[in-house]
Amino acid sequence: MKAAILAIGSELLGPDRLDTNSLELTETLERHGVELVSKQVVGDDVERIERVLRQLAADADLILVTGGLGPTADDVTREGVARATGRELSEDPAIVEEIRRKFAAFGREMPEVNRRQAAVLAGAEVLENPRGTAPGLLLEHEGTTFFLFPGVPTELQGMVAHRLEPWLAARRPRPPRARRILRVACLPESRVEELLEPVYARFGALGILASPGDIRIRLEGASAAELEAVETATRECLGSAVYGTGAQSLEEVVGDGLRRRGLTIATAESCTGGWIAQRLTAVAGSSDYFVGSVVAYSDRVKREHLGVPREILERCGAVSPEVVALMASGVAQRLGSDWGLAVSGVAGPGGGTEAKPVGTVDVALFRAREEPSRARLRLPGGRATVRLLATQWALDMVRHALREEAG
Ligand code: ATP
Ligand code: MG
Repeated sequence: MKAAILAIGSELLGPDRLDTNSLELTETLERHGVELVSKQVVGDDVERIERVLRQLAADADLILVTGGLGPTADDVTREGVARATGRELSEDPAIVEEIRRKFAAFGREMPEVNRRQAAVLAGAEVLENPRGTAPGLLLEHEGTTFFLFPGVPTELQGMVAHRLEPWLAARRPRPPRARRILRVACLPESRVEELLEPVYARFGALGILASPGDIRIRLEGASAAELEAVETATRECLGSAVYGTGAQSLEEVVGDGLRRRGLTIATAESCTGGWIAQRLTAVAGSSDYFVGSVVAYSDRVKREHLGVPREILERCGAVSPEVVALMASGVAQRLGSDWGLAVSGVAGPGGGTEAKPVGTVDVALFRAREEPSRARLRLPGGRATVRLLATQWALDMVRHALREEAG
């Protein structure tokens, strides 16, 4: 089976929007072993849509279309497919009623333009859209199957799960490969590649997707057993750098660890401005272990709210192992947490010196009854990257401390 993806939407041709729906669809196709032969983006232009669809139909057995099912006159995907297949469009009264009901559920009346979303191609099956108003369509035409999905990513995802997945599963061209993602924190991509050399040699290339301070390694196997062998080998090479799997985030893993050990934490943040607190509290249920934060950007706040003595600030500087250690213990004492995590650094672009260039970041973790952990980092990149990496390293310090606690 050969598949093609067509993303429709004039905004996708501009500089502000990326077609991410096709990535979602690609992942699904890959998992089902369907070969993808083409991906395209076109604007909301009925003639162009018709032309591209005719070309694609000559080459692909399955065409996945997203976008342009909205109610306004510029949404012309249905018309484009009608022209490309020579099929009539006609209004389905049951869909009009369904859309009316959806509006009524929010106490609103259906605008007349939304009738357009009830237009169905002759011979097409209607794909319900529980997350929006526009239903999708499924059409078999001269040996080619067309799926028409909405452009709104969450709506697309719902339909992919409920309609495309079962359709593909029923026609599975070859058994799907077993897949797993391992998450790695705070190692550069080149280092990960180097460490994984033995895995490459044994199992072939792995997919490595790098973003600052966080790498996803995509493992694959023809069977669950083979996947497990790849995973074991990968974990052996990377050791404790692997912090989680799949969509797990570092803050989730850290939060789970704190909860499991019945520990609480507070943060004292200078250059990260509360970002670590934001990451920790983005996780539902974080009130179990997260107490609060002091954004101690100025020296005065470091003194008055964290109890760092003026004399030490003057002698060592705000970015120093001494000061972050005191910030960490100070925040734990003042906010009454078991652990205190503190960060102070030179995020740039200004403020660097020879001794403390831009990217110098001190991190400390205070732990009741334990030696504090400390690190001086030299982080690469501009202000945004340095700040992001500082949050990542700080959270990873907590993760490692939790591993130590666990023995
Ligand atoms: P629908 O068919 O659901 O009505 P539409 O294309 O008619 O979709 P738009 O208002 O154009 O509706 O798009 C809805 C939202 O979905 C917009 O924010 C748009 O940028 C986003 N979107 C559309 N297509 C894609 C795509 N291929 N990838 C990511 N986002 C997309
Ligand atoms: Mg659109």
